[in-house]
Amino acid sequence: MLLKRLANDNKPELKLNSLQKKMITQVSSKLDENVYKYEDVECPVCDKKNKECIGQKDRYGFSYITKICNECGLIYTDPRMNQSSYNEFYNTEYRKLYNAKKTATNDFFYSQRRKGERIYKYLNENNLIKNKSSLILEIGCGAGGILDFFKEKGHKVKGTDLGQEYITYGVKEHGLDLEIGFLSDIKLEEKPDIIIYSHVIEHILDLNSELQMIKKSITKDTIVYIEVPGIKEIHKNYQSNILKYFQNAHTYHFTLETLTNVFSKNGFELICGNQFVQSTFKLTNGTASIKNDYEDVKAYIVRTEKRRLLYPFTVIGLKKYANLFVLKALDVSKLRPFARKIKTWLTKNKQH
Ligand SMILES: [Zn+2]
Repeated sequence: MLLKRLANDNKPELKLNSLQKKMITQVSSKLDENVYKYEDVECPVCDKKNKECIGQKDRYGFSYITKICNECGLIYTDPRMNQSSYNEFYNTEYRKLYNAKKTATNDFFYSQRRKGERIYKYLNENNLIKNKSSLILEIGCGAGGILDFFKEKGHKVKGTDLGQEYITYGVKEHGLDLEIGFLSDIKLEEKPDIIIYSHVIEHILDLNSELQMIKKSITKDTIVYIEVPGIKEIHKNYQSNILKYFQNAHTYHFTLETLTNVFSKNGFELICGNQFVQSTFKLTNGTASIKNDYEDVKAYIVRTEKRRLLYPFTVIGLKKYANLFVLKALDVSKLRPFARKIKTWLTKNKQH
């Protein structure tokens, strides 16, 4: 095992609230009772089976074995829960575990809208929004906040997700055109101009089937926008702690290179991308070329793990803690006791 710290001891890495702890107990019992079942996995890019183990647990303390393919550098979870288990997990425990809230909320919706703004900006800056009223399709849209931003900009929007409660919220509270299901369940009168998968591809079990399905659902001009948490930016987005990054819902863990390999294999070419990862692809007639990112990914993981404890003293770490300190200092709830004291004092003086 590459990272000894990730030995399976069932201890969570995150601070959890009572709802999250309840969900962990619920998922663990379903795994113990074989309600949720595991399946073995091979690299979806390479035919060869050379792989190395990275760790054995995730941030919630679930048993979660991650491996890196020696042939292409793709990291994946093996074994993982099968599709029917994940379907139930997404509809019952996932959002409560991940968002630490019982139901879809305005906060969640507006955080999605901010993501929508970021995606819009990225596409616009790269000249990929050709038509202001084009059709945007989002797979795994949650409550539909991303689509709501595009709708406000004049686009036609359509979304799909597996979480019933979030879909209902988006339809009822924000009048969005959303439905339950996968890409294969959606019936569209026209093909989308842009198709968005924001933090979704890393949850999909059969990547090659999904990409073949995308191929059937788009035209040669369709832009496929893919956003995933990039494993080469753990030092920026996860406090240099890979254990905060690993979560049981993620089945693949990408770099821009390993993500591009999966798309190349399925007949797409990269238009633009970064290690965040924000990326766009389109169909191509060219042949696939697979870049082996194994040495680079492995070196990054080992280096980041070594530097983990130094994170608070790095420029990124200092900036993050400085921001948190300022936000805490500006926390209005801290000012409430003073406001109450002033109000009481004013009331008393008025009576005199
Ligand atoms: Zn591979």
